[in-house]
Amino acid sequence: MKQYTVIARTAICIFLVILIGILFLPSVITSHVWLTLFLKLITVCLGIALSTFLIVSDKRRIALQTLSEYEHALFSTITEKLNQGILILDNAGYFLNCNSRFSELLDLKHSSMTKHKAVEFLPETLSRFIMEYCQADPDTPKDPSVEQIQIGTSHFEATLFALPGKTGSVAYVLLLQDCTKMTSMEKDLSDCVEEIRCHIDTKSSLLANVSHELKTPLNAIFGFTHILEDTGLDGHQRELLEKISISSDSLKQQIDNILDLSRLKKGGLSQNTSFFRVKDMLDVLYDKFYLPAAHKNIHLMEECLFEPDLCLCLDRSRMEQILSNLISNACKFTETGYVCIRVSVLNEFDDMVTLKFTIEDTGIGIKADELSNIFSDFYQSENFLTKQYQGAGLGLPICRYLADNMGGSLWAESTEGVGSRFYFAITAPKSYRNMKSVLSSPLDLQGHGEQVLVVEDAPLNFEVVNDLLSKVNINCDHAASGLAALNMCEKADDNYYTAIFMDIHMPIMNGYETARKLKDMGVKTPIIALTATSMDLNTQKKYGDLFSDFVFKPFKYTQLYQVLSPYIDTLSAHEPGNSAGTFFENPCEGKEEAIENLGNSPQLYEKHLERFKNSYENTTSVIEEHLSSGHRDEAKRLSHSVKGLAATLGLTYLAQSAADLEDAIDSGKENLTSEVGRFQDKLTQVLQHC
Ligand code: ADP
Repeated sequence: MKQYTVIARTAICIFLVILIGILFLPSVITSHVWLTLFLKLITVCLGIALSTFLIVSDKRRIALQTLSEYEHALFSTITEKLNQGILILDNAGYFLNCNSRFSELLDLKHSSMTKHKAVEFLPETLSRFIMEYCQADPDTPKDPSVEQIQIGTSHFEATLFALPGKTGSVAYVLLLQDCTKMTSMEKDLSDCVEEIRCHIDTKSSLLANVSHELKTPLNAIFGFTHILEDTGLDGHQRELLEKISISSDSLKQQIDNILDLSRLKKGGLSQNTSFFRVKDMLDVLYDKFYLPAAHKNIHLMEECLFEPDLCLCLDRSRMEQILSNLISNACKFTETGYVCIRVSVLNEFDDMVTLKFTIEDTGIGIKADELSNIFSDFYQSENFLTKQYQGAGLGLPICRYLADNMGGSLWAESTEGVGSRFYFAITAPKSYRNMKSVLSSPLDLQGHGEQVLVVEDAPLNFEVVNDLLSKVNINCDHAASGLAALNMCEKADDNYYTAIFMDIHMPIMNGYETARKLKDMGVKTPIIALTATSMDLNTQKKYGDLFSDFVFKPFKYTQLYQVLSPYIDTLSAHEPGNSAGTFFENPCEGKEEAIENLGNSPQLYEKHLERFKNSYENTTSVIEEHLSSGHRDEAKRLSHSVKGLAATLGLTYLAQSAADLEDAIDSGKENLTSEVGRFQDKLTQVLQHC
């Protein structure tokens, strides 16, 4: 633009000089009139052309100037309106421009910046940030740099980038965003989260402590209830004792739920996965609920729409916990009709399978607006004051946490007054192994004067163990502290104690420390931890070098006997004079545990046993008929039913022979004479002796 103006003005000057020259041309030239005229004409035309060019270029100049002023004004307006501070520096770091928000943010005056380098007027943190960016190789293209910068009590987000100019020069633009409010809000928020976490931790430890303290006396209630059973009680006293037992069972369930919930919320529940046969798990569940359901006149059904040998790799006990809770609820909230456990394959691919478990009932159902709440902690649809069903509203939330933890999903559908369906879907690695089902037989321990040491600071707890073990002819010594245990073991001969029961929570020297010291002393006696603190399998494994086994308070006498049985000669316990091979088999060996599972009601047990005997006395001939007429499925179904019911009623040997028969039919074996014969023997024993 400037170039054009200079040229135009020079041209005008030349033109004026020529014009004056021509107008006053010497007479020599004036004698040539035409030439003079021609020259004048050319000069005038040139003048007009030059003037026009000048006017146009001037107008263009003014237009461009106006446009640039407009752009400048527009830019200024925008930058002034911005909430961000903007600073522009030249190549050498000198101030070029800034918006007023920038001066305001850093409390700087325009005059203190003009003609100054950034380092001279900016706070140190900011100028260091700019210098580091500018010092990098100017030829390599750079991404904008962003940094959180604190100046005094204020917090800023600074963004710096280079802006290449037309002539190869570079300008640096700094954008400054005030984040003080946001940072303080973030800080408040994180303080809040920390506080909440702290409360949750305190709540969890409180829960764990309270549960621990509750479990110890509950243990005494369990133990003494069992001991009282054998003290010649009359009918009324036995009834009262049964009620105590039912109440303590229910209290234990609630404590376990609360502990589970607090551990789940802390994310501290580890998984113990291994392959198990789905059908085995369902059989256990069916057996567990069959009689309680029958007691309420509810029909418990099972529909297994999958291959019988299907095995899943999952945490079986957690799966059982979920399904057990759902079936228990279904039975609890159903007065007539049925509860159906249906299992189907949703999807099967490569080595994975998705199973869908449906627990359907014809119970009271759930109102539509309450359905979404039932998975919330402590939720119950019943009014607290008019509550009819037992429970604390923890079962479903725990199931939901467990299902999520396993990568499964849990949901429900329900119609009030009609019934409910709870679904649990899970994808897991699958296999089709022929895993033989193992029936656990209830244990009846009998000692022969063996000596065990019980290290326990609470006398009441020692009494429980002492009474339970003396019942089965095992003697207990008491060490009231870790130190006492060390002294007693030091004095005793190597094999004097068959086992040592060790409480974990003891003052001065805890159970871990005592066990470690005993091991260091060279004591080889198996040490069994006796604790009211719940422990997952990983923790148990961690202490595997110290403890041979773990018993968790409150424990059932069977659990105590179970852990002790490997160290007691159990075979001889059942066989006075067994050397001749006349081993007496008690056909209703698991009766006591079965009664316990029926809410400690011997009357109920007798009722169901009678019903079983009446319904199944002719089963062998029915099975034989099915086998001879080729209805192997029917024969298998019948064996399966006997297996489940017999196990529930503690008829261990009959249950085992039914399981063997079922497996043999299942395997396609042709000659089943020996299995059927053994089944008949065991059934006859039950019919005659139980
Ligand atoms: P609770 O121990 O009280 O049963 P849950 O968490 O297992 O706790 O269940 C929460 C509530 O959901 C129950 O109190 C009941 O109102 C409702 N509920 C659960 N299962 C069923 C069902 N099968 N039929 C009807 N209501 C149910």
